Amino acid sequence: MDMRGDEPGSVGRTVEDGRARRRVVTTTYPASRSTVPRGPRSNIRLDAGLCTGCADCVPVCPTQALQSDGPVFTVDHGACIACGLCVPACPEGALSVSYDFELAARSRRDLVETVPVASPGRVPEEAAAARLREEIGRLFRGSLHIREVDAGSCNGCEVEVSSLSGPYYDLERLGIQFVASPRHADLAMVTGPPTRHMVEALRATYEAMPGPKLVVAVGACGIMGGPFAGSYGVVDGVDRVLPVDAYIPGCPPRPEALIQGLLLAVGRFERKMDAGRRPQREVVP
Ligand code: SF4
Ligand code: SF4
Repeated sequence: MDMRGDEPGSVGRTVEDGRARRRVVTTTYPASRSTVPRGPRSNIRLDAGLCTGCADCVPVCPTQALQSDGPVFTVDHGACIACGLCVPACPEGALSVSYDFELAARSRRDLVETVPVASPGRVPEEAAAARLREEIGRLFRGSLHIREVDAGSCNGCEVEVSSLSGPYYDLERLGIQFVASPRHADLAMVTGPPTRHMVEALRATYEAMPGPKLVVAVGACGIMGGPFAGSYGVVDGVDRVLPVDAYIPGCPPRPEALIQGLLLAVGRFERKMDAGRRPQREVVP
């Protein structure tokens, strides 16, 4: 019987492979960097050394993630839905699809990369979140509870969120659980543009959560409305409704990106505790 996993040192759940043999399948991320499959794109990468500022790519972008203003070029990684349309539009080959997933940021501003053209570029990237379990143990007594709210998404983000509970990502190994009621939640994970019909529900969810509480905006829609931005039925981002502690780019963000974004948000919790907003956990009737 082979009890070893695919990754060195992997621990966690096992699955039957149908032949009465067991093997560990749970990923070791974030304790160690997992090898991510090449399939799903996560964002766009700009090589500023090649960009001449011609702006040929700007009109093809469906979410206005690319902007050119004279010698300055900006890439809004929060708005990018990784469609790849800009890659062939660039005559210099300066744009390429990125498979990086550690893109989450604590402020909306940090997702906007501003580079002078023909100078070395910088793609925002946070270090691997190896301390997530320790932080949850320290700040949440070993158990972070998440209420996921679909505020009008296409369900692409939900597919990625739900995979966190499967045997591969097994979020519970980090002390993270999804809960059905906001009254039991430390963190609201919100997907979708959000739609106007969901605004009141979002506010009610937030008010029902015991404080201090965290909010994470997931996907291009949660960050700025994604491909629906500017439409009559959406409000163009979760931060138009609730205070957001972390933004997780992607369309949809891959599960590792969600884990990394959660770590960023958890880092905010201590500051809220220090601010004395919740010396003792309140009970919301
Ligand atoms: S990949 Fe698509 S959404 Fe992202 S910058 Fe390029 S054209 Fe815009
Ligand atoms: S960010 Fe992309 S995958 Fe997520 S809800 Fe919006 S369109 Fe769907």
